[in-house]
Amino acid sequence: MAALRPPRLDAAPDEVARTAAAAPDWDTLAGLARSCVACPELAATREHVVVGDVPASGRPRLVLVGEAPGATEDETGRPFVGKSGALLDQLLAEAGLDRAQAAVLNIVKCRPPGNRTPKAPEVARCSGWLRRQLELLDARVVVALGLSSAKWFLGPRTVLGQVRGRPHEVDGRAVWATYHPSAAIRFGPNGAPRAALLADLQAVAAAL
Ligand code: SF4
Repeated sequence: MAALRPPRLDAAPDEVARTAAAAPDWDTLAGLARSCVACPELAATREHVVVGDVPASGRPRLVLVGEAPGATEDETGRPFVGKSGALLDQLLAEAGLDRAQAAVLNIVKCRPPGNRTPKAPEVARCSGWLRRQLELLDARVVVALGLSSAKWFLGPRTVLGQVRGRPHEVDGRAVWATYHPSAAIRFGPNGAPRAALLADLQAVAAAL
């Protein structure tokens, strides 16, 4: 097989998807994604491509999928390590779930400047990486954190309040959608998003 090349500057979503689909394993995919420059603005401003965390076994009990890296994630190259990550770790532990047994990914692997919402073409390009990651991990249970992630799995008309609290079958996977930890932080420790996020993680734990 010819050596795989990372997607070029301004590559179309198809090119990213083809490259990702040809990656035979996680390490190959991670190496290619780290050199991806398909999104010109993100490639020019990012510090790291945040490919995602996987358990040492390579077979996670569940896969958590957020929207995009923030400042701390961009600095460190790891997902959910800032304030949102600290709250996520705390709520996972309260729900009886072990982050070390989970894969932690994002829809978009490069930080949008100023933490803006990723643009539709960026989501379209980066989707190829995520689709192949889910295949390689053989992900059976997915938790979509926040509306962007929920829409990626469940469709553009998704309303978080209507879909949370129960699994949805998508491509043979059980997909749970819930609030992003940043919403739980924004509304405070007594706010509804924090309670809902914890309740949803507890429901996932019970289902596992
Ligand atoms: S966001 Fe995804 S598709 Fe865009 S440059 Fe980064 S890794 Fe490539």
